Amino acid sequence: MSTCLFCKIVQKVIPAKIIFEDKLTIAFKDINPQAPTHLLVIPKKHMESMETITSQDTNVLGHIILVARNLAQKEGHTKGGYRLIINSGPDAGQSVFHIHLHVLAGRKLTWPPG
Ligand code: 5GP
Ligand code: ZN
Repeated sequence: MSTCLFCKIVQKVIPAKIIFEDKLTIAFKDINPQAPTHLLVIPKKHMESMETITSQDTNVLGHIILVARNLAQKEGHTKGGYRLIINSGPDAGQSVFHIHLHVLAGRKLTWPPG
């Protein structure tokens, strides 16, 4: 059994508010939302960070971007827009070492990020 938190969500060993799932990916609400919409879209396959991906992962990574776009549209953010973020490594604030795409929307987001 994996010790990775997000692998456990994939395996439904720990609960999450799952809003989408297909063969390659699962999307769920962030437990500590930073915007009215804060979703995490993850590959079902464990990948630690941007530093460990290979050319074999481009299909699934492209897919999670499309899923994120579709979910942002579904939640009504086509007009207002949304931000997609992958934090990779300690300086970027990565705290869960299973790649995840944050989808943030529903308020005016500042730039540059902190
Ligand atoms: P990171 O800081 O690695 O980019 O993002 C990790 C995200 O995972 C954070 O936004 C955090 O709130 C979220 N998170 C951490 N643990 C859990 C959990 O058990 N369930 C859910 N749904 N989100 C989590
Ligand atoms: Zn994992």
